[in-house]
Amino acid sequence: MLAYAQRRTRFYQERGEAKSLDELPQVELLDYLRHPERFEVPAAPAHPRQELEYPVGKAPRTAVLGQEIRGSWRVRSFSTYRSEKLAQFAPQSLAAPGDTIRALAQSIEEGEIAWRPLSQSLVVFTDVVRGSLSEEDRDYFWRIFQVPIFEQFRGFAGELLAQECEAHDGMHVNLANAIFAVGPDGELEVSFLRNSRAPLFRLATNLSARLVESRCACGQITPRLLDIRRRSTVSASHRRLVVVNS
Ligand SMILES: [Zn+2]
Repeated sequence: MLAYAQRRTRFYQERGEAKSLDELPQVELLDYLRHPERFEVPAAPAHPRQELEYPVGKAPRTAVLGQEIRGSWRVRSFSTYRSEKLAQFAPQSLAAPGDTIRALAQSIEEGEIAWRPLSQSLVVFTDVVRGSLSEEDRDYFWRIFQVPIFEQFRGFAGELLAQECEAHDGMHVNLANAIFAVGPDGELEVSFLRNSRAPLFRLATNLSARLVESRCACGQITPRLLDIRRRSTVSASHRRLVVVNS
């Protein structure tokens, strides 16, 4: 992916030869968001749709919102939670971005829509820009949906970077899709390995996190991301003043 990025993107072409990620500069999140075109690969093929990575075993009847997936008879995408087809499908699990689930929870709370309760799980997509689920989010979602919550941390192309398992003790890193590192000041850095339309390495996410290598209660030994929190940034003439949220 590194060699590909050096051939195909303006940003990495201008950085010249680098044999490893360490030789590349960090990219600040705001710089990336202001100039995503510098990382784009012109005419790169679209990402093939993938099946939803269900967190535990085989997916039950699952409705997916806000994510392009290759559907099956058990797992189907819908454009909105107000869809009549979704109501007919009567999902046991719902997988959707955090903001969409927040909106749905409010609609349910206010009695604005008839919602058949879920019986299996809530899969919540989060990302680098919006940050991870807070404890308040989890409490609220539990109060409304009353099913186990599984967070899935995704990249800019929707690719799975890390996901929560049934032990609910952080998110297991998807080693094929991402490399995570935590800097000396606790800032989480991500290199994206599967986004061929916009390869991006060493993104300084403005999130703080811990990376843990110990064996998880679920039996997996892949590293886990824990305590992802947003740091607030005040940028004065590009000098960063970072305040870590409590
Ligand atoms: Zn686990």
